[in-house]
Amino acid sequence: MIEDRWVDKDANDFVKRYQEKGISSDLALRVYTSRLIGSDPDLVMHGGGNTSCKTEVEDLFGDKQKVICVKGSGWDLATIELPGFPALKLEPLLNLRKLEMLSDKDMVNVQRMNLINQASPNPSIETLLHAFLPHKVVDHTHATAILSLANIPEPKAILHEIFGDSLALVPYIMPGFSLAKIAAEIAENNPQAKGLVLLKHGHFTWGKSAKESYSRLIEQTNLVEKWFSDRRRKIGRRSKKGLKSNYRLLISRIKKSFFDLSEEPAPTVVIKTCIDDGISAQIDKHIVNGITDRGVATPDHVIRIKPKPWVLTKSTQRAGQKAINDSLKSYISDYKNYFNKWSAKADESKIMLDPKPKVIWVEGFGLIGIGGSIKEAKIIMDIAIQNVSVITASESAGGFHPVKNQDLFDMEYWSLEQSKLKKSISLPLKGKITLVTGAAGAIGTAIVNSFTEAGAEVIAVDINKRKLEQSGFGANVQKRNFDVTDEKTVENFIEDLVHDFGGIDILVSNVGAAFQSPLIEIEMDDLRRSFEINFFSHFRLAKLIGQLFIEQGNKGQMLFNISKQAVNPGYNFGAYGLPKSTLMFLVKQLALELGSYGIRVNGINADRIRSGMLTEEFIAERAKSRGMSAEQYMSGNLLNEEVEARHVAKAFIDLCLLERTTGHVISVDGGNIEASLR
Ligand code: ZN
Repeated sequence: MIEDRWVDKDANDFVKRYQEKGISSDLALRVYTSRLIGSDPDLVMHGGGNTSCKTEVEDLFGDKQKVICVKGSGWDLATIELPGFPALKLEPLLNLRKLEMLSDKDMVNVQRMNLINQASPNPSIETLLHAFLPHKVVDHTHATAILSLANIPEPKAILHEIFGDSLALVPYIMPGFSLAKIAAEIAENNPQAKGLVLLKHGHFTWGKSAKESYSRLIEQTNLVEKWFSDRRRKIGRRSKKGLKSNYRLLISRIKKSFFDLSEEPAPTVVIKTCIDDGISAQIDKHIVNGITDRGVATPDHVIRIKPKPWVLTKSTQRAGQKAINDSLKSYISDYKNYFNKWSAKADESKIMLDPKPKVIWVEGFGLIGIGGSIKEAKIIMDIAIQNVSVITASESAGGFHPVKNQDLFDMEYWSLEQSKLKKSISLPLKGKITLVTGAAGAIGTAIVNSFTEAGAEVIAVDINKRKLEQSGFGANVQKRNFDVTDEKTVENFIEDLVHDFGGIDILVSNVGAAFQSPLIEIEMDDLRRSFEINFFSHFRLAKLIGQLFIEQGNKGQMLFNISKQAVNPGYNFGAYGLPKSTLMFLVKQLALELGSYGIRVNGINADRIRSGMLTEEFIAERAKSRGMSAEQYMSGNLLNEEVEARHVAKAFIDLCLLERTTGHVISVDGGNIEASLR
């Protein structure tokens, strides 16, 4: 059941907070209930749904203007603020009802023309529906319960049984002007109605206040929920993560099939998995009953999860890699047929989206979401889970029969969505799962920040928890605190990476620690310790990740922070240089052995970077012993310029992007002939 989460005190706090900024209580409470709605995944999910409020604003002349404030695109109801509700002049919008037709492009244009603030985001595509309903506050959701009812063949009698005349039914029409007109007519013809069910789409409620509309929304949704709960067996909730024994093999084969069948050289495949027993049981049942390609619970889901999931049956899983590839091949060819068939009937040319699936139903196992980033994969997984729940409920009440074929295509290839596609620019390392060790040090921090800016999904590992927490990394950087010399921990960590994201694309093995002593005097334990950190930790990660790269066929890459010590020894740095020169050899050996899998292995020799190893104190001491200033010492190279951590980070990015380079080491030291490579 959906909880009514209106709390008077919270509502009053919103009113007070907005009052201080001179904003009316109508709008304050509009923001408040929008957030209540947005933060319940059984009402709306990931940016779905929209809300509005009709009110008045003062123009530059002090005259009152009637406006509608409606959710803007790019905002999520769960976290929305007032700027997420662009205000539009109401009268000109209402005048549009006189028109017979209005194209999507004209609709977007006329909406923008009537914005009070031209800097506002685009108002929702369902703005006109909100505007045409003659109520102060309007809420629109895609609730699981309502969708379960909206997608069965004959919901009318059931709706009447539950609601009498208080909920009216709107036939399926794609969102836009025509839907807005018809929905408004139906609402007018049913003056006793307190809401609308949009067939195969969702739910609208309204009220004189935010509170009234919200409480109707909850009440109506729960009446439907109750009707279903008497009929279906309990749907299991998502359980805690738990690895199944064949998990890694399955994920690796799925990923390999994506890489084998991709037209791009190294596509980004981030995986999020739901292995909840309840969802898994429902999927299995739908597969057995052949309900695998009926469509999606509400049309805009098709944009996220495509018209159907890729179904991996137990027998395909058992038959191995070739069978999985063949199964994916047939999904792709079905998708291309669907695209060719319906794009030929479209009135403008369409750009085909990636034909590979976004959702996998794995029989006997669970559900997988696939995205170009962690966030996207998670959104896809969540929406796909909701779809499974809707299918189960609808099937218990007459069958799941959502919009299909051309209607699905029209939504997936909507001109408004296609134009967004043309505008989007992709970052060079977008979605690449990148592991950076020694991440909280000066060079590590610069690497993490550079890779994040380049679009990578960075997992920052450091032994120093405090430094990691104070690193100032963005919220999307995953921080992991452990010792990379601990074998068991590292092994578990790699398994976790497979579980959490489906694997890894780039290793930046950066960890290092300086050991100073004349070699002749060094304790063997210290030398061994130096090898543990400066060589074996790199080797262990390279070995485990190399195995994973080969299994998944993802043409990953490995980058190592070596040191100029590897080729140009410095006094008292023998215990550091020995493992570093071994590390440089490792780069070459791995490049040789892994090249045929498309795995690239490269390194960087950096020198004289301000960091934990090269402290201000140490710099001052070295400079003094050479009779120069700290600045002179730091820029003592051929270019006479200090080398900074960011220059090293940039070189790692550059190596990443050099598609035909492996077994290579770049010097980032401002020029030093003694340390230069042949
Ligand atoms: Zn909708």
